[in-house]
Amino acid sequence: MDRHYDVIVIGAGAAGLTAGIYLARARMRTLIVDHGTVGGQMILTYQVANYPGVENASGAEIVATMRRQAESFGARVLAHSEVQRIDLAGDVKTVEVEDEGTFTATAVILATGGVPRMLGLPSEAAFKGRGISFCATCDGDFFEGKDIVVIGGGNSALEEAVSLTKYATSVTVVHEFDHFQAQPWAVDEARANPKIRFLMEQDVREFVGGESLEAVVVAHKRTGEITRIPAEGAFLFIGYVPNTAWLKDHVALNGRGEIVTDESLRTDVAGVFAAGDARAKRYRQITTAVADGTIAALAAVEHVASRAKGAGEKPAGKEPAASPITSSEASPAAPGKARDHSRLLRLPRARASRASVS
Ligand SMILES: Cc1cc2nc3c(=O)[nH]c(=O)nc-3n(C[C@H](O)[C@H](O)[C@H](O)COP(=O)(O)OP(=O)(O)OC[C@H]3O[C@@H](n4cnc5c(N)ncnc54)[C@H](O)[C@@H]3O)c2cc1C
Repeated sequence: MDRHYDVIVIGAGAAGLTAGIYLARARMRTLIVDHGTVGGQMILTYQVANYPGVENASGAEIVATMRRQAESFGARVLAHSEVQRIDLAGDVKTVEVEDEGTFTATAVILATGGVPRMLGLPSEAAFKGRGISFCATCDGDFFEGKDIVVIGGGNSALEEAVSLTKYATSVTVVHEFDHFQAQPWAVDEARANPKIRFLMEQDVREFVGGESLEAVVVAHKRTGEITRIPAEGAFLFIGYVPNTAWLKDHVALNGRGEIVTDESLRTDVAGVFAAGDARAKRYRQITTAVADGTIAALAAVEHVASRAKGAGEKPAGKEPAASPITSSEASPAAPGKARDHSRLLRLPRARASRASVS
């Protein structure tokens, strides 16, 4: 197996696979490493109806096509391969992968996405996999003929609530605010579905049951009124947490732990780029992840070419069209949390060195 690649992509979701397609097609020696199954969050999506050019497909179908495309151009994909150590400082980047050994690359694209956010209740952990799920695609059919609860009020929550009505007898959508954050069409579709009812302004207090989930207890945020919703399933769609904690000593993160980039998706380390849900941005969709994968790949190709020519790369923050990181993208760091490094990107230099961390 080759040990040196032009570019190593960490994460094989929509962003990483797209980067792989562009890189391999540009004849870059490309390795894509994922510690899980290939596809990331797309695998969790039962039906994707908003990916241009594809009228209706499951996330898994789109993943299979993207992977085929990347491999057909020559990208190598390693799934179920844990990245154990990285060293991103210097001209040659090092990526150590469990059972596969150490690889080096001229550029690295970080496309590690995110995982569904949890409420943090003790009873939530107790019923995870025994009624509590984060994936309608994976678990929806377990709830054929049952009553279920969907927690959340964004696009994912309402779209997945609608998809779950294929199986469930009833779906109660529980949301913390008096309005939804979802797009109007998603709200309209959910409201038009006779199997869905809505409980607004609710705090989820507890999940109760025996061997498996039997009910979700919620409290009205203003009146405190407690409601016990009988349910054998509860699906949580309340946002995401970026998979970046392990990167905090390697690249700049903002207060939410998102990787800070400039418009060309360069991080504050020369030759290291970030794409997809792991980076600081406002909208997280397959299309935006795909766009990021494209931009990061093209920028990485330029970086590799400049290294090959021995020319100096333009430092982050010197791109004429680069727009500053907005305050909405970079929230203030909470005490004890990762520092907000967004302003570092405006410094006319790449980070000199960083420690290699497990
Ligand atoms: C339930 C649900 C439904 C959705 N529905 C839609 C929809 O209908 N339309 C739409 O456009 N968007 C939808 N989205 C959002 C969309 O799926 C994501 O925005 C997009 O897929 C993100 O892609 P990504 O490549 O940035 O990250 P991810 O898909 O999260 O991929 C990241 C990959 O990186 C890997 N990884 C993480 N850490 C490491 C590590 N240390 N080492 C190696 N690999 C690592 C992960 O295993 C994963 O495979 C949905 C999301 C969810 C959760």
